[in-house]
Amino acid sequence: MKNRKLLMIPGPVEFTPEVLAAMGLPTTSHVAPNFIDVFGQALERLKEVFLFPDSQPFVVAGSGTLAMDMAAANLIEPGDRALVVSTGYFGNRFAAILERYGAEVVRLDPPALGDAPAPEAVEAALRAGPCKLMTVTHVDTSTAVLADVPTLAALGQQYGALVVVDGVCSVGGEELRPQEWGVDLVLTASQKALGVPPGLAILVAGPRALEAFRKRKTPVGNYYADWTHWLPIMEAYQARRAAYFGTPPVNLIWALNVSLGQILEEGMEARFARHRHLSDAFKAAMEAIGLAQVPVNRRQAAHTLTAPYYPEGIDARLLGLIGQAGVIVAGGLHPAIRDRHFRVGHMGAVTPSDILTTVGAIEWALARSGHRFEVGAGLAAAARVLAT
Ligand code: PMP
Repeated sequence: MKNRKLLMIPGPVEFTPEVLAAMGLPTTSHVAPNFIDVFGQALERLKEVFLFPDSQPFVVAGSGTLAMDMAAANLIEPGDRALVVSTGYFGNRFAAILERYGAEVVRLDPPALGDAPAPEAVEAALRAGPCKLMTVTHVDTSTAVLADVPTLAALGQQYGALVVVDGVCSVGGEELRPQEWGVDLVLTASQKALGVPPGLAILVAGPRALEAFRKRKTPVGNYYADWTHWLPIMEAYQARRAAYFGTPPVNLIWALNVSLGQILEEGMEARFARHRHLSDAFKAAMEAIGLAQVPVNRRQAAHTLTAPYYPEGIDARLLGLIGQAGVIVAGGLHPAIRDRHFRVGHMGAVTPSDILTTVGAIEWALARSGHRFEVGAGLAAAARVLAT
């Protein structure tokens, strides 16, 4: 029997063979001409994939949390007021990071778990006092809630706050148009919908964010994350010149460039549509077998992952059974519901057959757990959506 498991967690995800092959190439010097060319091209492609032509990308070794840290370190000065629009665990993390750099943080929590703060509440907070920046978690991976970025970004612009979007669980899958919507900075990590193994922190900063950085009166309180070091490096690679501050992760950047090429070949509109379609199919399956989901409604539900609650009488032991059926899914993360739900990632190179396999594994595991339901109803519901 094959012992390969299908990885369907909300990151890291399954990667294409071409991306993985780039990880295995003999590592070259970070100032070798062939590497300079690839890094320069990857930076240019990032602007296209992020739909943010007038931006400066930054790519450094690290995870998504470093990308959040870099945004806060470079944009916040002690005493700045910052608004965090929180929809779960990662919004709360952003508040903690901003506070570490001396920000006076106003955190807006949702009225209920699985919901998002209302735009009226966000506007009231912005009106209550000037905010240097506001953060929005596009998809909070702990709740699978999708934030209404266009509405929130318009409010941020209206009240003069820099709009910073945590796109770790969205960029490359979820519809996001920073330049059109008035977002000033988007950050992400490599291991999710961008389709590259973990290890890259990626930020794309627009003109207002760079201007705020240039106008700082105090030095950046983090040596590694300081754009003073990284901006000339990114500019040099874009101009196809060698430069050094910290050794770039050569193979990861090769892999990134391969993945960005594949993403652009698919096309952003097609990619957004594919994520929506596969998500709709998976969510229809969960509904058909009677599993409620954490987001309070479909309009506020992410397309990169699904967060179903366990049915009555079932607990996290279900995950082990799903694993026995050949599919790895993730447990809960948000402390308030950690033991009551699980999470399934469906982003990046995910295919219709991955969706059907995962639904089948969940149904098999539920049946083995003694849960009473119409076995096959989920598969039929997913297949119906996939056929549209
Ligand atoms: N923000 C969001 C929305 C995330 O989903 C994650 C990771 N799950 C992070 C930030 C942190 O990223 P990392 O684990 O790569 O540090």
